[in-house]
Amino acid sequence: MDLSKKIREIEDFPKPGIGFKDITTLLKDGEAFKYTVDCISENLRRHNVDIIVGPEARGFILGTPVAYNLGVGFVPIRKPGKLPGKVESYEYSLEYGTDVLEIHEDAITKGMRVAIVDDLLATGGTVAAATKLIEKLGGEVVSIEFLIELDFLDGRKKLDGYNVNTLVHYS
Ligand code: IMP
Repeated sequence: MDLSKKIREIEDFPKPGIGFKDITTLLKDGEAFKYTVDCISENLRRHNVDIIVGPEARGFILGTPVAYNLGVGFVPIRKPGKLPGKVESYEYSLEYGTDVLEIHEDAITKGMRVAIVDDLLATGGTVAAATKLIEKLGGEVVSIEFLIELDFLDGRKKLDGYNVNTLVHYS
């Protein structure tokens, strides 16, 4: 299935000049959603994953059904102040300023084989921060799965050394 046909582009969102890749059109299409989740799950089967980690918010939408498919658990990574338990935090740079992501400090235990699932790789800042959080807790990031990759932003450079898979590329 050509998933690129199911993704809508919205011009000038969230700012003028940005063409936002909107996956809500894919998600509401049952066949396309199932195909997406099944493809990501298949990519991960050979990695003997112990747990899936997904960043807020679209990483939750794709990560949880993949975890369910593989019969493993799911761990959320969230913006500050959202997780109720004790957290590990990581601050990372954006184009202007910084951002912080958090994970429950007991969510991953030493030696766990972890896969990260997110909707889109842009500059790579979000998922690079996720790898740092997982590794701080002693987890091993065995694979990173995206639905979409914006090749022209070169986000893969930030994920050098990791196994990265993407279903739909925009160049
Ligand atoms: P990065 O940290 O620059 O790689 O940005 C990736 C994060 O920003 C992902 O978690 C995406 O959900 C979000 N994002 C950036 N651009 C888009 C887009 O065009 N569509 C949907 N999400 C986007």
